[in-house]
Amino acid sequence: MNAPNKSGWKPEMQVSEDGLHNGPSTTTGNRALMLEEPLIFEIGHAETTGVDLPEIDKTHTNRLAGFEREEPIGLVGLTEPETVRHYTRLSRQNYGIDLGFFPLGSCTMKHNPRLNEKVARLPGFADIHPMAPQQSVQGALQVIHELGDWLCKLTGMPGVAMSPKAGAHGELCGILAIRAAHTARGDARKVVLVPESAHGTNPATAAFAGYAVEDIPATPEGRVDLDAIKARLAPDVAAVMITNPNTCGLFEKDFREIADAVHAVGAYVYCDGANFNAIVGRVRPGDLGVDAMHINLHKTFSTPHGGGGPGSGPVVFSDALKDFAPLPIVRKLPDDEGYELVEEEQRKHRGQSFGRMTAFHGQMGMFTRALTYMLSHGADGLKQVAEDAVLNANYILRSLEDILHAPFADAGPCMHEALFGDKDFGGGLSTLDLAKGLIDEGYHPMTVYFPLVVHGAMLVEPTETESKASIDQFITAFRSVTERALAGDETLKQAPYYAPRRRLDETAAARKPKLAWSEPED
Ligand SMILES: *Cc1c(COP(=O)(O)O)cnc(C)c1O
Repeated sequence: MNAPNKSGWKPEMQVSEDGLHNGPSTTTGNRALMLEEPLIFEIGHAETTGVDLPEIDKTHTNRLAGFEREEPIGLVGLTEPETVRHYTRLSRQNYGIDLGFFPLGSCTMKHNPRLNEKVARLPGFADIHPMAPQQSVQGALQVIHELGDWLCKLTGMPGVAMSPKAGAHGELCGILAIRAAHTARGDARKVVLVPESAHGTNPATAAFAGYAVEDIPATPEGRVDLDAIKARLAPDVAAVMITNPNTCGLFEKDFREIADAVHAVGAYVYCDGANFNAIVGRVRPGDLGVDAMHINLHKTFSTPHGGGGPGSGPVVFSDALKDFAPLPIVRKLPDDEGYELVEEEQRKHRGQSFGRMTAFHGQMGMFTRALTYMLSHGADGLKQVAEDAVLNANYILRSLEDILHAPFADAGPCMHEALFGDKDFGGGLSTLDLAKGLIDEGYHPMTVYFPLVVHGAMLVEPTETESKASIDQFITAFRSVTERALAGDETLKQAPYYAPRRRLDETAAARKPKLAWSEPED
């Protein structure tokens, strides 16, 4: 570490007591060309800056009407080269999809084509403002409209709301539209049914919207229990929220029958479509009787997310719900006259919209990326996206089921993700130890302890963008750590050994987070 260290900060040494270490301590805390990096508060100085500005002409301060700052703000600064190095070193301690395979199940971390980035950065998209006059942003409105059109065609549903900004936000949008539809009929209902195999955001959304949430059990095959759901359906049920494909990585085969039963009691079918990447081009949810479904653009149609960028969760609607969708919508004018944004004051176009989800129109940067992905694949290419994602997941499932407990492997092929459990691990080892062992092998761990229906669940999602070579290497690493876990290899309990930080106290991190930096006492 080259910068002055004014706080007595000490890098953590990467040597463990059990003799597993990667070399002697160094005086700097650096390891070969991996440099340690303290916080900017620990290396910066209040008097340092990256730019030389001329002295302020004091004659203008009267324009501040007495509000000028009397004392320096006290924020630390770095020179330009120090700044560049600080952030570059921090970025090297991070793991991202551009570094390696990211097998997080349910999260769908796939390669983001650089073409998408290029299009999103075109000045006509990147430099516009949501309040710009509509006539000056016709191209952007066209992108929103065409993307919505693709989503309607791919799902077989007639209405779409583009403004929700993530999957969970889309769920809220769908449930609010369902509530508006019931209210419009004068039929306020109280209950939303959520199967055990649904994503955790589903019950949270229903509760947030003021509904009582009731669980529907899963069958031993990991699917919704059809008889249980039919037995519970009654006129107090507002909606059923089903994740399809579900969080066990399985297609809900009885979906159409469930939807018919739900409609028969006057309730609506909400489908969590975050996993649309497994079925895009193969199944149209509208044909299955879905009334509202969010699509995570950031999962199915690439676009960065997580630490890499914001998400986007448009919602498609059936005929029964489309008039209750939120504003604004982009409308195509007749006679090639362009596009207009339909806002609150023009409600006459929109029936009984429940209002707005966001201040403006949604995530424009995600819209351009997603539409680029669609246009560059075409309809046939998108179908192949789903087929390759499913093929890759089944390859992983079948390559590991001989040594790892795969609870639903007998239920037939999986969809886009393979699910394992930690049965038969020796020496008190669990899924967490295997996950930490994978870090030492150079892999971000898969999703762990979710879904809850499987003990020590490990959910692995390769996506369509991994090559066979990269999946094979992952399988080799996964097998070797699994063999250690089955043999009760004690050293796994201390893993990771080689990451920039050793194993963290995850309970303390969640229960007693330290969210603000304070000067360490000497
Ligand atoms: C990712 C995911 C969500 C939540 O989406 P966010 O964009 O993270 O809010 C909901 N349901 C399922 C099945 C998911 O995979």
